[in-house]
Amino acid sequence: MILDVWWSSLAAADRDLLAMLDAGERARVESLERPADRGRSLISAAMLRAAVAAHLGIAPADVVVDRTCAECGGPHGAPRIVSDGTPVPSVSVSHSGLLAVVALVERGPVGVDVQRLGDLADPAEGIGWATREALFKAGTPAPGDVAVHELRPPLPGYVAVAVAPAESDGAPRITHWPRPIRG
Ligand SMILES: [Zn+2]
Repeated sequence: MILDVWWSSLAAADRDLLAMLDAGERARVESLERPADRGRSLISAAMLRAAVAAHLGIAPADVVVDRTCAECGGPHGAPRIVSDGTPVPSVSVSHSGLLAVVALVERGPVGVDVQRLGDLADPAEGIGWATREALFKAGTPAPGDVAVHELRPPLPGYVAVAVAPAESDGAPRITHWPRPIRG
């Protein structure tokens, strides 16, 4: 099984991407006060659609994303791709600073976390922190069930980790979206 990792940067945030989103995603982007928060929310939602659409061979706008929060039922939970009966991939999304990342596998647990080291009280803890977050987002799987992938973020000053099914132990397949990211 291949672990797909998609990266984007805030430099890609463009109003045109709003057309890819559904009404709930647009409302979420437009509700955010700070431009950087809006940009991160926009590129994360748009890239998730682009990654799933590429995997399924459909249009990004036809991807159905459910963000129902498991705790309170609000629309801010971890994204889950809704199936119309055909198999859909497992996904996870993270963003920090200038970067957003999507991890996608055909099925099974997946979690991804990116951290800007400058945001952490102790940057030396960055990998450990990102690993814990990625494991949590993957649903806290049993250690033998998953592979932990230390990712190489496309900008300096970041760490990132993805957790995916144990059979994904090859190198992740990396995509920069919508264009190469240069540090
Ligand atoms: Zn909630």
